[in-house]
Amino acid sequence: STSSAPIALLSVYDKEGLLPFAKGLKGLGFRLLGSGGTARMIREAGIEIDDVSSITNAPEMLGGRVKTLHPAVHGGILSREIDSDLADLATNKISPITLVVCNLYPFVLQTSKPDCTLAAAIEEIDIGGVTLLRAAAKNHARVSIVSSPSDYDAILSEWKEKGQVTEETRRGLALKAFESTKSYDEAIADYFRKMYASYDTAQEMKAAAGVGYQRLPLRYGANPHQKPAQAFVEQGEMPITDLPSSPVALAHDRAVVSGSPGYINLLDALNSWALVKELSAALDLPAAASFKHVSPAGAAVGVPLDERAAKVFGVEDLLKDLTPLASAYARARGADRMSSFGDFIALSHPVDTPTAKIISREVSDGVIAPGFEAEALEILKKKKGGKYCVLQMDPNYVPPEVETRQVYGISLQQRRNDCKIDASLFENIVTKNKELPQSAVTDMIVATLALKYTQSNSVCYALNGTVIGLGAGQQSRIHCTRLAGDKADNWWLRHHPRVLALPFKKGTKRADKANAIDLFVTGQAFTAEGGERAQWESLFDETPEPLSAEDKAAHMKQLSGVVCSSDAFFPFSDNVHRARRSGATYLAAPSGSIMDAECIRAADEANMVYVHHSLRLFHH
Ligand code: 5GP
Repeated sequence: STSSAPIALLSVYDKEGLLPFAKGLKGLGFRLLGSGGTARMIREAGIEIDDVSSITNAPEMLGGRVKTLHPAVHGGILSREIDSDLADLATNKISPITLVVCNLYPFVLQTSKPDCTLAAAIEEIDIGGVTLLRAAAKNHARVSIVSSPSDYDAILSEWKEKGQVTEETRRGLALKAFESTKSYDEAIADYFRKMYASYDTAQEMKAAAGVGYQRLPLRYGANPHQKPAQAFVEQGEMPITDLPSSPVALAHDRAVVSGSPGYINLLDALNSWALVKELSAALDLPAAASFKHVSPAGAAVGVPLDERAAKVFGVEDLLKDLTPLASAYARARGADRMSSFGDFIALSHPVDTPTAKIISREVSDGVIAPGFEAEALEILKKKKGGKYCVLQMDPNYVPPEVETRQVYGISLQQRRNDCKIDASLFENIVTKNKELPQSAVTDMIVATLALKYTQSNSVCYALNGTVIGLGAGQQSRIHCTRLAGDKADNWWLRHHPRVLALPFKKGTKRADKANAIDLFVTGQAFTAEGGERAQWESLFDETPEPLSAEDKAAHMKQLSGVVCSSDAFFPFSDNVHRARRSGATYLAAPSGSIMDAECIRAADEANMVYVHHSLRLFHH
């Protein structure tokens, strides 16, 4: 080789395709330099190559920990074609390096072995290789960094054809190198998060030091066969802690699976927390949400209940002790008792005893709140034999502005939906009737904030600070409006004196009552036959007569003042008509449909108050 020959530095763990590539580079006139094992393999194949130590004049040392970390290597890679850099090279007798070929120790392969020790994992952390990749990628204005054997052939052809690696190719190679060091470091961080900052492995140490943790192992993903699963933050501490003194925490310590949250629990917890935090801030009242499958089954703020409402919401025996927070949860849980069965609960304020008492007798999966009063915690600890999932949320936690998720291997990134929903959103009244009382504005905020955290399409009816009907995840807007409307109708029919006086046998379970009432108000009890009918009838001292169509119609006429909000514009006026039939007096939706005028006309006909805004609230 002549001294003006371009220099290629090779240092690869994965030696696939190495020999033909080295041979090709040699044939193109390169001077080859290699680190220990790489140089040996190439030399043994009869291809001329120098050891890196021939330019560093320093041996590889520390059992391979230091091979290429040397100014002769990194000066040669990082130097620019500017006078001062060239002068530095000359002074230090360093030759510029044109091409770097490098791939890294297999950290993931090593650490995924079941018997991998911490020491073995640490030894598998490539230092010099990452430095080669980053240095060469940084200086891609002059240097080519080849980090993948799949690029070897293309590099040879390009050089053969053009006598160089083109700038365009160098850019692509640099990006690839940076992506590879990024995922390498990600794998290392993931490993150490598991070792040093995971809820299960680090708990004792952390509790003693009063330090948080960054990772929460999850029982499994969306389904039991989706393992492993975990939740983690990459910076700072996990804002969700559990309660070190509670049996719930002990269950985690012992890695007992049933007490720890699952993947969907966490989706529910985080979405419902966001909802109650925003609801409470917007209305300056305690707020509660009852989530199922990542949509609210109920949500409400702490508006007091009267006796009838307490009965409908299933808390008549607790009425005199209800705090605002307890009222909020009673409303959230009681509006759609069927959907709330087995819910994940979010509470905006520290859980008090009355709220815990309501929770204690319902079937529920878990609760997230910013704190727990001692007596309330005692009550919750007894639930599910000590396995009830109790999560404490840091109320000051602010999520990053940008959120990323992966679907089918593709990363999707967006600005978080951090829009604020308050009274100022509902100022543009487009109907003739412009009378929007404060209570309706409150309900618009409740309904619209609920939509912000409901799988789309969605439509929500609210009254008295309470979601009374929510249609989630329907592909058709009118189906949402109908579904939510039917739920609101059922909720209202449950106020009918005949329902309130249904002659249940003593000792009938709460969940059975809820189901039987649902069958009664929807009329399905009376179309049921055989065993299904007998089972329903068996719950009563005396078989109830159905509500007649006239009964229902007369009762429905008494429902008014309801708010109906939509997560996107109403495409047709059928939505307006349907909402009106469920007592909607107030509508809120984004504008933008070619049928807007038609919808407004339908609202005017019924003397409704229709608010247009421009905030679409799809959520997935
Ligand atoms: P070889 O088989 O040539 O002895 O080693 C190649 C591997 O060593 C490559 O995976 C490369 O990333 C890595 N490597 C290169 N230089 C250094 C260094 O200075 N320190 C460490 N720890 N690894 C290096």
